[in-house]
Amino acid sequence: MDGLEEAAASFFEDGLQASGGRFMPRPRQTAMARRIARAIEDGGRYIFEAGTGVGKSLAYLIPSILSGRKTIVSTATLTLQDQLFEKDIPDAAALLSRTFGWAVLKGRGNYLCLRKWRASHGSEIPEEIQAWASGTLTGDFSEMPGEPDAAALARIRSDSLDCLGSACPERSSCFLLKARAEARRADLLVVNHHLLITASQEEDILPESEILVVDEAHRLEDAAAECMGLTLSAGMMLPVIDGIAWSDAPVSSKASHLSSARELMASIEDLLGREPGTAFWSPLEHGRELEAVSSEAASLAAAMAGDEGLAGPAAACRGIAAACDGLMTLPSEGNCVFRETNGGRPRIRAVPLEPGRLIESEVFSLFPVVVATSATMSVGGSFAYTAGRLGLEELDGEGDFGSPFDYADQAVLTCPPDLPDPDDHQALAGTAWRWGEELSSVLGGRTMLLFTSNRNLQMTAGNARSSPPPGLRILVQGEGSRRLMLESFREDPRAVLLGTASFWEGVDLPGDILQALVIDRLPFPSPGHPLTAARMRAIDEDGGSSFMSLMLPSAVIRLRQGVGRLIRSSTDRGVVVILDRRLGASSYGRLILRSLPAFRPVDPAGAMDFARSIAGARDGGNP
Ligand code: SF4
Repeated sequence: MDGLEEAAASFFEDGLQASGGRFMPRPRQTAMARRIARAIEDGGRYIFEAGTGVGKSLAYLIPSILSGRKTIVSTATLTLQDQLFEKDIPDAAALLSRTFGWAVLKGRGNYLCLRKWRASHGSEIPEEIQAWASGTLTGDFSEMPGEPDAAALARIRSDSLDCLGSACPERSSCFLLKARAEARRADLLVVNHHLLITASQEEDILPESEILVVDEAHRLEDAAAECMGLTLSAGMMLPVIDGIAWSDAPVSSKASHLSSARELMASIEDLLGREPGTAFWSPLEHGRELEAVSSEAASLAAAMAGDEGLAGPAAACRGIAAACDGLMTLPSEGNCVFRETNGGRPRIRAVPLEPGRLIESEVFSLFPVVVATSATMSVGGSFAYTAGRLGLEELDGEGDFGSPFDYADQAVLTCPPDLPDPDDHQALAGTAWRWGEELSSVLGGRTMLLFTSNRNLQMTAGNARSSPPPGLRILVQGEGSRRLMLESFREDPRAVLLGTASFWEGVDLPGDILQALVIDRLPFPSPGHPLTAARMRAIDEDGGSSFMSLMLPSAVIRLRQGVGRLIRSSTDRGVVVILDRRLGASSYGRLILRSLPAFRPVDPAGAMDFARSIAGARDGGNP
């Protein structure tokens, strides 16, 4: 055994005693930490899967810290970043009794831009944001309690479009620059996937580091697709308009610049159209309009040049011109350009079809050691799909550390017979609510229904509202923020939660808060989405099978995420119902079932019996 592996093993086998019982040795965690220690010593690219309950954060933090090498940990969300920074790393530091510096760095849009904040004179910014902005020491928006007005924050946040960087008069107090300086000094830095991708393409943001740990690695591809592409929207004009309006420019030139900026915004709106929906968009067909917008933006930037107070809006205009030029010169091969409406506002996105190649060449290649980890990366026991999507085809090692939970004892899975066609939304919504109603009635709430489309969600919500189970509360996604809905669900066990999209991941409800999960369909990506369609076509034209190498593995990973909401600790128990008849009737159904946790398969009556036994045990009756 090598030195680092030995040190990591002895920490997990003996050192955890120092926690006074707060942390207990876990064989899978020790095995994972040892494997990561070996990976650090050997160098190279690794994929390690660790299911819920393994304790993967400590398993990668401890060997990384013990190695004494600079490390970057990237995770998927701001919440997970904060959890690592505020809980997991301080825990590791206390257990190791070691001094090392750690820091968290978020994307620039999470920090208050002092230049814009001062220029705004606070006039149009809600009072609670003004009060926070006047006293903050970090400028990190996540410090603000409640749910601050997102539109107001957007006006005073740091934005690469109009940031003046070293030319900024506020640079010595700039929160973003201070956070970046702290990040460069840290031995262990926590970032998120979006920042990892964008910062890797710029100099001097991330410290030179030897180890990169990508946690929640199954989400890196989406982040890369978003950050490595191009975006054009009318909203990009807001910092220009605010910047001019808030500047000290003479009244006459201010009025003229504002009028030009509004005209430019209208030109972008005309170019993008106003109708809702997502569809392919051809830069070639819109070449003349793109050229016109580009030159309008460049002219406005030139008109503002020379006025120091207008440097921000001028930079933003140059960014818009560059986005138009980028769209016009983008190679059609290997990219997908589409128009979508985001929160009702249209935008054009150009996305690489295979971000994995770029992830490898622009991010992973910067690190001698890359460890990608997550609870859900394998499909039927193979990492080929995830490795391919992340550009990790040349792996130096892989491993699956499983989960300590006894899924067959803790949960049952049923896929009822006689299910409707998955495309018969009306019938599916009826079936989904029948199951939701029956399970929640037996369990006294504690039921979550996950949907693959907003249509199915809304139809089922309609059914739920027309026959609400007595004494139970129905929570439907969209009726409040995700955070508030989860808080309500946590605080009121007599609730049934209906959710889609973001509720498939990152929902952690241990104990008896959640005891039944109903899933409407197998979560295949929508083949109607331009990006999915373009990726499918590229694979098929290359002689491959888009179903086997993209649609199916993607659905498996998503389904694993969804069912993973149910069992979060070794004492949790619950029922999973999947209402997609393809699970039992198709040849690929077996692969899907093999990829899921080993829930005990039962028929519908068995599922209801299990629900009754859970309710009985929970309420102190005879199970
Ligand atoms: S350096 Fe950029 S982010 Fe910082 S205050 Fe100046 S403009 Fe804002």
